[in-house]
Parts: sequence; structure tokens; C-alpha cells
Amino acid sequence: MGTAPDPLLDALRACVGAPHVLAPDAPTAELEPYERDWRGRQRGRARAVVRPGSTAEVAAVVRACAAAGAAIVPQGGNTGLVLGGVPDSSGTEVLLCTRRLNRIRALDAANLTLTLEAGCVLQTAQQAAANAGLWLPLSLASEGSCTIGGNLATNAGGTQVLRFGNARDLCLGLEVVCPDGAIWNGLGGLRKDNTGYDLRHLYIGSEGTLGILTAATLKLQPQAAAQGCAWVGVPSLEAALALLALAQRQLGPGLSGFELMGQLALQLVAQHLPTLRPPLWQQWPYCVLIELSESAAPEQAHALVQTRLQALLQASLEQGCAGDAVLAETLAQAQRLWHIRECIPLAQAQEGLNAKHDISLPISRIPAFCAEAEALLAQALPGARLVNFGHLGDGNLHYNVQCPAGADAAAFLRQHEAHINALVFDCVQRHGGSISAEHGIGTLRAATLPRYKDAQALALMRQIKQALDPQGLLNPGRVLVRA
Ligand code: FAD
Repeated sequence: MGTAPDPLLDALRACVGAPHVLAPDAPTAELEPYERDWRGRQRGRARAVVRPGSTAEVAAVVRACAAAGAAIVPQGGNTGLVLGGVPDSSGTEVLLCTRRLNRIRALDAANLTLTLEAGCVLQTAQQAAANAGLWLPLSLASEGSCTIGGNLATNAGGTQVLRFGNARDLCLGLEVVCPDGAIWNGLGGLRKDNTGYDLRHLYIGSEGTLGILTAATLKLQPQAAAQGCAWVGVPSLEAALALLALAQRQLGPGLSGFELMGQLALQLVAQHLPTLRPPLWQQWPYCVLIELSESAAPEQAHALVQTRLQALLQASLEQGCAGDAVLAETLAQAQRLWHIRECIPLAQAQEGLNAKHDISLPISRIPAFCAEAEALLAQALPGARLVNFGHLGDGNLHYNVQCPAGADAAAFLRQHEAHINALVFDCVQRHGGSISAEHGIGTLRAATLPRYKDAQALALMRQIKQALDPQGLLNPGRVLVRA
């Protein structure tokens, strides 16, 4: 017996054209990239997958869904890690994919701004800036797939936050389709505009729960004339912090990256991606990747970068906060070191499922937090392995717990994940941290959030959601659990 035709599908086809709507009976191979999350933890079922190609089409889709009372899940590159951009299993949610909204609208070199559509892939945006001799300083390991809309919806972080801030700090303006289909054009390229509430900041980090971002104006920087990297083996977390303080003093604002990598994280890279050959990991419990960017005259910049990094390494070896170090001599070597760091999530995924925690802490509390959490985990789950890495300069750790070697990862998680999460997050809270540094809340952490977030902050968030999306149609159940 066939199922009754869904009138919403015809309405969506009228909005965007039939080739850009997938019905639920489309081949699995076509639906799966939209319905399954990047980590493969959830395969949902969409009522339809719709791919608008312009802001006007997004608005038409939103109006059609509002008329039908259908919830919408916005999706960009589907690289999110908290199950915010994939449909649930009800088959009632419409997945709105923004990837056809991928035009660069304007690059204003004198104003140092790039205006582009939300479905532009981050790497394409970086390239557009580079083609004009400029720099978009937002960089994530997922940059080949994630989109600008997704970056802003999650307020993405990445490896340049230390110097340039999160995605929020790079955004000067937004264009948004509201839940009733109205379009707010806030695409100013202004650095100063005190004309009332700054709506842009409401939408950034709202994970698709308040509006659909369709375009943005981003701040650019003059391209650094030279960048250099050093890879340093450190004897302890305390030493890593001392090295960070030294690097901040010696390199000043040129310090553009300070990444921490635990021994097991690098062991997994060596094991699963052997051609990458990470250095120094066998001798030291942690390695640190330091990046320096110089904007001096190009002919002097490379030599200046190398001299300043050498001086830093010498001082750190003398002061005992570094055990050994490798200095990249060329840009290609520096890129190879970054590639190792960026491949940690991939190596970890190849090892099997794990309990991920994207946490932030006051930098000064990191050694005490790690000592306490490690002791609690060892006591509760002997043999569980800690894969610890992250953006130390921002106080952001990816503190992931992997099953004991040789154990069944899925069974281990089924049995222990809730306990591990509570143990880690309670410890984060005791040390004044946050349970989500840069990945967001999605559905993965929505039920956990009330335990750790200030009750008044949550009440205000609910009021904002109610005011902007009274029907509750945009990404329901993400960030805030359904009332
Ligand atoms: P999606 O995954 O498609 O969506 C993410 C969320 O944003 C969902 O809630 C979705 O509904 C919403 N959304 C997407 N587009 C829009 C839109 N146009 N309007 C409104 N809402 C929208 N994140 C970091 O912050 N730092 C990192 O260093 C980092 N490294 C990563 C490395 C790897 C290997 C992977 C797989 C992920 C990493 N991430 C990182 C997470 C992820 O890449 C970021 O969250 C990214 O910003 C998501 O962009 P996306 O286009 O893939 O969004």
C-alpha cells in the first residue's frame, strides 16, 4: 500500500524547482549525506531535503514550512559534532541545505571585508580572500567542507582564535531569513554601529534555532608576509603553560597559534596515518605547536620569523619548559606540522567511537582540572584512554575518552558514556569552565545544558526563542530541550 502524497513536497518543489527537493523515498545514497551526521552517530529521517539557491528561495521555503507547521533543520557542510544539523528520526522535519547558496557577493579590499553567501565552503572563502592578497583568519580542520553559515551558526573557533577571536569576532554583518519568511538584511561592513540592539550577535552561535543565515560580511586581514612553526616536546602541562606565557611575552601579537597535543593523540596519528610521522611524541607526554605570523616587509619576514622562533626555543629550553623542539625551516614543513595536528580527529575516528568533550577552562586551571579528571576516570574506568588535545592558548581542550585498548568501543560507550560525561562536566564546573567551547550544544548536549548553565541565562534564552520563533519551527530541540 503506498503512502499518501505529501502536499508540502509539491509546495517545496514550487519554491526551488523539483531537482532540488529530495522526497523520503529517494535512494538512500542520495539522502544519507544529509541525514547522517559526520561522526556517524545518528541517521535521521527527513520529511524532505530542500536545497534553495537564493535568499528569496530560502524565504519561500520557510513560508511554505510555516504554513504547513513543519519544523526546519538548517544544514551547511554537515560537519557539526553535536547533532544540531541532522534531522531526528520522526520523519517530520524538513532539512534545508544551504550549499547552493554559495556566491561571493563582494570583496571590498579598501574596507577589508568579504560579503558572501552562507553556503560558501570556508576554504573557498579563504581562497577568495587570498586571491585579493588578503587573509580570512578562520581555520578549522573541517574547512574543506564546513560552510560560512555553519561557522557563524556555531560561532566556530579553530586555530586562529588566539589572535583573531572566534567566528563571531570576524563577522560585521548578516542577512537572515526569519521563521515567518521575512528577510533581515544586516549586511553592513561597518566596524562601528551603535544604533540599538546588535542583532547579529543573537544569531551568531544560535545553531539555527532563531533564523536561517543566508549571507554574511566578514572582516579580512592583510596577508601575513611570513608564518613559521615550531613543534615542541614538553615535560608536563605546567611546562606547556609556562611556555605559553613565555611565547606571549616574546612573540607578542605575532603569536597566532598555540596547540596542545597529548601523547595518545599523537600515537593514534602515528598508528593510523603512519606517513605523517609526528615528531617527538614518544619522548614527551605533550607536544605543542607554536605558530608565529609576521607582517614585516616580505623580503625580511621569513628570516625574522625564524630568528624570533629560535630565540623562543632557546629560552624555553634554558628555562626547562621545553624538552626538545623542531623548527620548520620552510612553509611546506610548517604546513606538514599543522597537517599532523589537524589529522588528530581523523586518527581518533579511525580508532573507534569515543566520548568527546569540547570544554573550556580558565587557562590557569587546566593542569589542576586534568589531574583531577584523570584520577577520577582512572578510578571509575580502569584502562580507559584519554585523548587530550586542543587550543591551549584559548583554554580549549578536546578531552576525549576512548575505550580500553582492544575493547568494543560501541559497547563501552553504551554502558559508560553518561557516567563519563557527568564525571568530566562536573569536574569542568568545579574548575569554572564551560561544557562547550566551540562545537555548540545541538541535541547532543541539550538535555545536559540545564545542569551546568545558569538558570536565569536559560530563562532569558527561552524568552528570546519564544519571541523570535513563536511557533518553535526552527531547529526544535536543539540547544534548548523542547518545553
Ligand atoms: P553544520 O554541521 O551543517 O551545522 C552546524 C549547526 O549550524 C547546526 O545546528 C545547523 O542547524 C546550523 N546551521 C548550519 N548552517 C546554518 C545556516 N546557514 N543558518 C542557520 N543555522 C545553520 N569546530 C570548531 O569550532 N573548531 C574546530 O577546530 C573544529 N574542528 C573540526 C574538525 C573536524 C574534522 C570536524 C569534522 C569538525 C570540526 N569542527 C570544529 C566542527 C564543525 O566543523 C564546525 O562546527 C562548523 O562550524 C560547522 O559548519 P557546517 O557548515 O558543517 O555546519
